[in-house]
Amino acid sequence: MQDALPDTIIPRRAAIQALALDGLLPGSALVRLPAVFAAVDAVSVVLTFSATGSDRVLLTGNLSTTVRARCQRCLEEFEMGLSADIDVEFGLPGAVSSDDREVLTGLDDKLILAEFVEDELLLGAPMTTLHDEGDCYAPGEIEDAEELPPTRRNPFGDLTKLLGNKD
Ligand SMILES: [Zn+2]
Repeated sequence: MQDALPDTIIPRRAAIQALALDGLLPGSALVRLPAVFAAVDAVSVVLTFSATGSDRVLLTGNLSTTVRARCQRCLEEFEMGLSADIDVEFGLPGAVSSDDREVLTGLDDKLILAEFVEDELLLGAPMTTLHDEGDCYAPGEIEDAEELPPTRRNPFGDLTKLLGNKD
């Protein structure tokens, strides 16, 4: 069952309510991902807020979507999944995690859900978008590979032709 997602969340309050989100953030709510990718599907948002101390909120879950990216090798567009596992804490300024988690300040501040989702997905996005190795060729590579299969190359073939031309 998917719920409507709130636009903003105050982490401390969300933790008191043990807020659990499971919904779709529409592509129209996103700003930065569409600037990077050709098309972005709605983002599946599954997040759970829980209090782990008096001034500490744990946020865990997963974000996932499908985007159309342009392959930087062959320049064709292709679909790829983009996802991020969320495991962060909200605390007061200067707070340090006891579990090596990233600690975000803003325990009592409005968290803009779409911004958070885009931050996390962009962090997990690859720096360069490429098809899997072997799925594509740079422009020009295919022709070369077909015209000169390595097994048929004969280093003496050209020499014979050259000698023949001299006669
Ligand atoms: Zn490619």
